[in-house]
Amino acid sequence: MNLRYPVYSPYLNGREKALVVDCIDSTWISSKGKYVGQFEDSFGSWLGAQHAITVSNGTVALHVALAALGIGPGDEVLVPTLTYIASANAVKYTGADVVFVDSERAYWQIDIEDAERKITSRTKAIVVVHLYGQATDMDAVMALAKKHSLNVIEDCAEAIGTRYGDAHVGTIGDVSCFSFFGNKTITTGEGGMVVTNNAELARKVRHLRSQGVSSEREYWHDVIGFNYRMTNLCAAIGCAQMESIDDLIAKKQQIAEWYRQSLVGLPVRTHDTNPRTQHSYWMVSILVDDARERDALRAALQLDGIETRPLFYPVHQMEMYAAPGQNFPVADDISRRGINLPSYPALMRDDITFICERMRDFFARQETKMEPLLETKS
Ligand SMILES: *Cc1c(COP(=O)(O)O)cnc(C)c1O
Repeated sequence: MNLRYPVYSPYLNGREKALVVDCIDSTWISSKGKYVGQFEDSFGSWLGAQHAITVSNGTVALHVALAALGIGPGDEVLVPTLTYIASANAVKYTGADVVFVDSERAYWQIDIEDAERKITSRTKAIVVVHLYGQATDMDAVMALAKKHSLNVIEDCAEAIGTRYGDAHVGTIGDVSCFSFFGNKTITTGEGGMVVTNNAELARKVRHLRSQGVSSEREYWHDVIGFNYRMTNLCAAIGCAQMESIDDLIAKKQQIAEWYRQSLVGLPVRTHDTNPRTQHSYWMVSILVDDARERDALRAALQLDGIETRPLFYPVHQMEMYAAPGQNFPVADDISRRGINLPSYPALMRDDITFICERMRDFFARQETKMEPLLETKS
């Protein structure tokens, strides 16, 4: 199968190669080296946050953030079930229990009313995931957190460039986590960032990230930490990506707008933008009106060399998280009907037109499919 349109492909057309070569020429290839600090400074100031701490991927960013908040055995953490598995796994790594929350229908984010119903005396924190580049309603999240004394962790892995009001997401809660995996809006191959405006929390994250080594005494460790550091090689790629970050986000927003225009009249729904937010469209996602057509549509597109992905399976459906009596009707429904379309920044208008024409053909065939069957009967 020749794949004409992958779902994603990173954009590495700037100084990425030059800065990586500089690391090798200088021999600074591990986590010591000038690009680590430069990437932290440029990402933090671009975001409007006081502290940005590189880590080796987005999953460990979540783990070290939760650990720095002191989340551990006996605690409960609210997590939307409609998310990538890492949001839940990171809570489990701390020994705390994951309490799943359903999604709201309009924007597919965590359902705040359902979250409130699930709060117990053991609930310590809420992980909000700005899913597929849309922002969660942070005013509602912060009000809930204040009322019940919860820590707020923003999982911004899919939300580089997403704004809530005037603020970039990730600067509103107690701490936030970004991913720079190959298909994220900017990439370092594998990589992540923990962001906070709390100096004490930032100190703890740095300490835990680097084996809990004492700041006063060499090879003396005062807590059980982790090696979650980012390499200078990855940070060099990150520095180069920062030079194109605004262009990349603008391209993705343009791509989403082209899809929206070209999908008019088809039995699908695009991912609406909450008017109070700026959607960064990490992945252009649609819901097929009729869930039964979803997989046939994906198969038809695949024959035309167009790769798609199903939306995430709600995490409560996975065997290791399954528990009796759990019911998440909205997340289940969104997941069954959802598709991610090719969303990489190099897509041009003609590409989107082609992809949407193939979709239009598929739905036209669906409509006429019954007629020949009826004819042969008569
Ligand atoms: C990608 C992603 C992560 C994990 O990031 P990695 O860098 O792949 O470990 C966490 N949460 C969400 C919502 C993600 O999409």
